[in-house]
Amino acid sequence: MYAIGVDIGGTKIAAGVVDEEGKILAKTRVATKADDPASIDASIAEVCKQLSADFEIGAIGLAAAGFCSPDRSSVLFAPNINWRNYPIARNVRELLGTDVPIVVENDANAAGWAEFQYGVAREASNMLTLTIGTGLGGAIVIDNKLVRGGFGVGGEVGHMRVVPNGHVCGCGHDGCWEQYSSGSALVREARAAAITQPERALTLIDAAGGSVKGITGPLVTLAAQD
Ligand SMILES: [Zn+2]
Repeated sequence: MYAIGVDIGGTKIAAGVVDEEGKILAKTRVATKADDPASIDASIAEVCKQLSADFEIGAIGLAAAGFCSPDRSSVLFAPNINWRNYPIARNVRELLGTDVPIVVENDANAAGWAEFQYGVAREASNMLTLTIGTGLGGAIVIDNKLVRGGFGVGGEVGHMRVVPNGHVCGCGHDGCWEQYSSGSALVREARAAAITQPERALTLIDAAGGSVKGITGPLVTLAAQD
């Protein structure tokens, strides 16, 4: 029996089939429209159908870039995707017409739990994982247990305020850690630096097609490697 894991981010959905040892046997990915939750549901159902064709699936896990309900069925709120009290497990189950269990977990919790079970933290009993993507996610394991906290969002360290009166965040607060340490922050800082010091950013602006707006995270990484 196998499981499907689906990672739903602000820009893409990545999905795979895993065995009981966490080994990935097949994978696929599609782009997402962050402002259109219904199209995200449809894309999730589509990748699950694709991946179920060759494997007997016993469970589906949805890793969502948002605050998840403690019963692990819905996303309460997402800073970077238009989810508000969104019953994503039920929607995907209806689209698939399946009675296979579908569980929703915060994406950083899912990544952290994978590291704890099979990865770099498998010898540890206490662990903090940080996931750096569009935003900044966190997962905390204490005494071999994933810490969800009272409202299911105990590991959301990316929304701790680290800079009073700092940049406004998608969560509605300002100065969140995510606004200073994430892929989005990297691009924002690089664009601002390229505007104020264009003579130092010639290569980067060139690689971005001559426009500061064309600067992306991967281009900044390439420039740093150069
Ligand atoms: Zn925030």
